[in-house]
Amino acid sequence: MTAGPANTPVDTSRPHPARVYDYLLGGKDHYPVDQRLGEQMPPVAKAGVAQNRAFMQRAAGWAVRSGIDQFLDIGTGIPTQPNLHQIVQEVNPAARVVYTDNDPIVLRHAEALLVSTPEGATDYVEADVREPGRILEHARTVLDFERPVALSLIALMHFVPDEDDPYGITRALLDALPAGSCLVLSHFTREFLTADEDKTDRYTSSGITLRPRTRVEVARFFEGLDLVEPGLVTAPQWHRGTPAPERREFSDSFHVGVGLVRG
Ligand code: SAH
Repeated sequence: MTAGPANTPVDTSRPHPARVYDYLLGGKDHYPVDQRLGEQMPPVAKAGVAQNRAFMQRAAGWAVRSGIDQFLDIGTGIPTQPNLHQIVQEVNPAARVVYTDNDPIVLRHAEALLVSTPEGATDYVEADVREPGRILEHARTVLDFERPVALSLIALMHFVPDEDDPYGITRALLDALPAGSCLVLSHFTREFLTADEDKTDRYTSSGITLRPRTRVEVARFFEGLDLVEPGLVTAPQWHRGTPAPERREFSDSFHVGVGLVRG
């Protein structure tokens, strides 16, 4: 099942975050305009998105092994194997996943996200995270909000500027979730980047809103939650139950954490 305006045209006149991210990950689902911006990024940017994607995979694996079988993933991106539902349904075939993104290109590729195990379910809704009410209304048709849900906002909230109230949006989503649910969040930071590595301005001058945040600013997303070990760390440092990722050649550029909704 999918919902959303299936015919929104794909804008190839300017770069879009999902497509530049796909370029940086080594994917094929982007346009020349995205590639041009991606090519201006230093090697640390490719390393950063790869570290981020690997964190998503580890954290989703951790959540499903902890007993959570419902997932609401906002800012899903263009499908890249393994996708979240593949990770969680491999552990629990009955797991149910709702994907959301506001970019029409993701809907074009949604078929790859919608191949579910027969016991579980996958679903896609085209929506903007700034409309949490609409996302929740749709998610309720697929997920049982009386039972824990993992909400994942992975490499998403740095595209939401302060004036759009990213903390209020996150709170509105979390308020709908029962105790035992969790927030899995990763967020771009420029804190550890050298002047040469930091190309935030290239993104913003190309028309993409990008708001890097400091560790203190990212910690605010977890207010009122209990952070699970190892707390708020950079992406390669979060590897619960799995071996530590290999030593990195590049500076880290994502703060990540998992917070539990209290009883
Ligand atoms: N979560 C994936 C993809 C990250 S790329 C991963 O970490 O691997 C960021 C995604 O967020 C893109 O697909 C982009 O289209 C989406 N996005 C950006 N702003 C958004 C918004 N306001 N609402 C919903 N999705 C958004």
